[in-house]
Amino acid sequence: MTSFEPTPDFAAHLDATDPLRDFRPRFHIPPASDGQPSVYLCGNSLGLLPKAARAAVEQEFESWEKLGVEGHFHGTSPWMHYHETLTDSTARLVGAKPIEVVVMNNLTTNLHLLLISFYQPTASRYKVLMEGGAFPSDQYALESQVKLHGLAPDEAIVELVPRPGEHTLRTEDIEAKIRELGDSLAVVLLGGVNYYTGQAFDMEAITRAGHAAGATVGFDLAHAAGNLELHLHDWDVDFACWCTYKYLNSGPGGTSGIYVHERFAHRPDLLRLAGWWGHDPADRFQMKKGFRPMPGAAGWQLSNAQIFPMAIHRAALAIVDEAGGMAALRRKSEKLTAYLEFLIRRLELPPQVLEIITPHQPEARGCQLSMLVHKNGRALFDYLAGAGIIADWREPNVIRLAPVPLYNSFSDVQRAGEVLAEWAGKAK
Ligand SMILES: *Cc1c(COP(=O)(O)O)cnc(C)c1O
Repeated sequence: MTSFEPTPDFAAHLDATDPLRDFRPRFHIPPASDGQPSVYLCGNSLGLLPKAARAAVEQEFESWEKLGVEGHFHGTSPWMHYHETLTDSTARLVGAKPIEVVVMNNLTTNLHLLLISFYQPTASRYKVLMEGGAFPSDQYALESQVKLHGLAPDEAIVELVPRPGEHTLRTEDIEAKIRELGDSLAVVLLGGVNYYTGQAFDMEAITRAGHAAGATVGFDLAHAAGNLELHLHDWDVDFACWCTYKYLNSGPGGTSGIYVHERFAHRPDLLRLAGWWGHDPADRFQMKKGFRPMPGAAGWQLSNAQIFPMAIHRAALAIVDEAGGMAALRRKSEKLTAYLEFLIRRLELPPQVLEIITPHQPEARGCQLSMLVHKNGRALFDYLAGAGIIADWREPNVIRLAPVPLYNSFSDVQRAGEVLAEWAGKAK
């Protein structure tokens, strides 16, 4: 790893030699109060607007305006098959085969649809293993799924918590818990990257351990898709879902993706909630009785495709492909985040003031760093905002900073470091 320097010149040099430097101008960077572009480190919460998105949506307005219902079959990209145009780039994004992915609905909706199929508790195998303090929607989803089966959440849901004095989970402890639950374990459901700590889990090892215990293993990739290189098929993951408005820059409330391993592709017997868009297209319009799912993830679709969010998503995914895919993004991302970490560590703040709770090793994190601020965290957050640094605040006292490789520069990170240093000088 390069040895870093905290100066604007050094950051400018890194920017000038950044192979992805031409991608930043392809996004709208929101202005700060002085009218200059802000330092936007909040792509973990809502990714920025790709300039190409507007034209992509405009094109579908055009089809609707000119063709009306015929837009389903005519126009530049007939709506009937619109979702299929996302399949190949989505498969590349998560390391899957095309038959294993589909884009549809929203994240929590998809989590429920997948759990209906993959959480099939029996009298003896009924437990779900998840992260303690998981994202609230995931907690509520699992709690309600457990109740749907007449089980008590307290008994059926087992939460992983870090060792005393630690902030993140150790893979060996996750594996040990899976072994301990053994025959009682039905499903392991973790985030690919924990939204709060920024910890990236060893999905391959966890999947292996889950399968060895006879359980099904799924991941919520809300903070991993577009952030990490994923190899869901090779890791043998059973199912996964993600949203597209965080690291995938596909707009607020945007559409979502699911992955279902190929071994379930030809299992029409697998229980699911059904809708016409998941039905065999050969006789979808004959409105006959008896649901026959399409092979693969497509067989989990319910409704006809949401063209407008998908148009944005298609434009956003095209940028990822053009940039060279996740391998290229990740190369820059590791360096950006390492630079941010360097700038924070050189302030030498005592851990009782501020500590980074995100793991240090690149393979155990994505681009986000979470700072636990023990005193006056909210004041620091406001100080950053006042200086045009858009971070994100999580109760009770965590500030998340996520420099993302497509539109953040090393100069952005340098500026954030400079503002933190000013604050630290003041705080002394
Ligand atoms: C962002 C996020 C969600 C949000 O769910 P929506 O259904 O898209 O509103 C859910 N789970 C996790 C882990 C998240 O990070």
